[in-house]
Amino acid sequence: MENHYNRKLKTTWDRFGGTNLLHVPLAEINRTIYDLLNQNKQAVIIPAYRLAGCMDEGAGGKSVGLGGPGIVLAFHAGTKQGKQGWQAVLAGLDTTARVLDGDVDAVSSHDGCGACGIVYDLLSGEEQKQFADSDRLGVALAKELAEKLSVDYKHIPYEEMTRQASGHTARMVFYTGTEQFNIDDCLPRGIAFTVSRGSLQKLEDKEFAAEIGKFLLDTACRIATGDHGLAELATSLSPFVIVPAAGSRVSLPILLEESREIAAKYPGNVTVLDGFSL
Ligand SMILES: [Zn+2]
Repeated sequence: MENHYNRKLKTTWDRFGGTNLLHVPLAEINRTIYDLLNQNKQAVIIPAYRLAGCMDEGAGGKSVGLGGPGIVLAFHAGTKQGKQGWQAVLAGLDTTARVLDGDVDAVSSHDGCGACGIVYDLLSGEEQKQFADSDRLGVALAKELAEKLSVDYKHIPYEEMTRQASGHTARMVFYTGTEQFNIDDCLPRGIAFTVSRGSLQKLEDKEFAAEIGKFLLDTACRIATGDHGLAELATSLSPFVIVPAAGSRVSLPILLEESREIAAKYPGNVTVLDGFSL
């Protein structure tokens, strides 16, 4: 998508030295990108091809970003049903499928998935051996989901990812209230996590939807400000930011409230911008 908005951003980004995000002052990049997004918010709505990806900033190309994709949700939904480990993931798979059904044209997994790592650590020793590593767990789940939904499946290897295998480059996380959200053609790759609160809102249990949304948002903040992310670069003058992007599914006041609750856990490192409605 080539328009005034993209040209302006590209110029801005070139000045920052390509994708070497860690050497750009956070405050400067956050303000610039937020201003551009806020002025051109229609540019991020791309309903043409909707990919269920991870919320990971390196996986890219997504319109629906959930942890894993959806493995964290599946695990928690299954746990609520009294199951454990891989049985919990399987039992919760229908819940994830319900959330993604109609919102996506493909489901993806990716190398080095942290969300799959979280669930992998909760499996029994036997189950861990069965999958060998957390990425293979993600592949198994994504394939299963794609089949359930009768949509395409895609794996994103490190070579196609827009971050290095060793670390995270995100400066912000979009907490979205819509299923139509894709920043790949509008913003530099690898700059933002995406947590699709809007897709979760399709669950009947709205309290559970909010709980999972906040858990994923919290996970994104923890990864982004942790040792493999911004680490000491995230400060009160130059924080990691949460950008609420409201839509027809979840309103801006709700996204703001949930965002502020999570940001409060990271005093001086994470802040919430005013956000916008699409
Ligand atoms: Zn991931």
